[in-house]
Amino acid sequence: ILDVRNLQKSYSSGSKQLQVLHDITFSINENETFAIVGPSGSGKTTLLGLCAGLDYADDGAIELCGVSLNDLSEDERAILRNQKVGFVFQNFQLLPTLTAIENVSVPLELQGAKNAAEIAKNWLEKVGLIDRLEHYPSQLSGGEQQRVALARAFSNAPEVLFADEPTGNLDEETGQKIVDLLLNLNKENGTTLVIVTHDLDLAKKTQNILKLKGGRIIDHVIKANA
Ligand code: ATP
Repeated sequence: ILDVRNLQKSYSSGSKQLQVLHDITFSINENETFAIVGPSGSGKTTLLGLCAGLDYADDGAIELCGVSLNDLSEDERAILRNQKVGFVFQNFQLLPTLTAIENVSVPLELQGAKNAAEIAKNWLEKVGLIDRLEHYPSQLSGGEQQRVALARAFSNAPEVLFADEPTGNLDEETGQKIVDLLLNLNKENGTTLVIVTHDLDLAKKTQNILKLKGGRIIDHVIKANA
């Protein structure tokens, strides 16, 4: 469902070019759970953004849901994301003028769901925010905003879900709840999970762990029965 070949990515800062990903190659099958781990600055978020089609690689090829991202225009990428891909990224915030429940229900309505408000309420309850439905993002803590973003991603029943540090801002108990929801989504809906995480408990529960260091893959652990 995701095939990454010989990916290279540099950022320019001033007159310097900084290569942050070197020759990254791996693939993920449908229904798999996949964690990307590594030290701060090793390129995890950059890699996730490229795989989700949010950014462009300098070189290499990415195939997502059977489509080559290299061949897609920005609009075509947006359509692919809307139809098949969910993502929860730190820098893709909620819409500030919509309440928590609207942030989840409005995208569903736009896709033609009839009982969008009910579905939204249901997911917000599952992420532990039933008493925050009418709060605006500015009235929510960082971890609460993150959970609204997760509820929005879950509600869309994506084929692939890309999540950057989904438990990063959460206490242990809430984090555990989110991990259970993620794994459940994989089990029940077959959603492929691609998760950047520092949370070793979460990484232990995925079937694959890709370890990055200095922009290179240093290990790919495939577990038989995670
Ligand atoms: P963390 O665990 O701290 O979130 P990470 O492994 O996700 O780190 P990335 O965010 O992918 O790392 O960043 C990889 C490297 O690229 C870092 O050294 C960072 O400073 C640099 N970098 C990231 N985004 C940009 C950008 N837009 N412009 C210039 N450099 C960038």
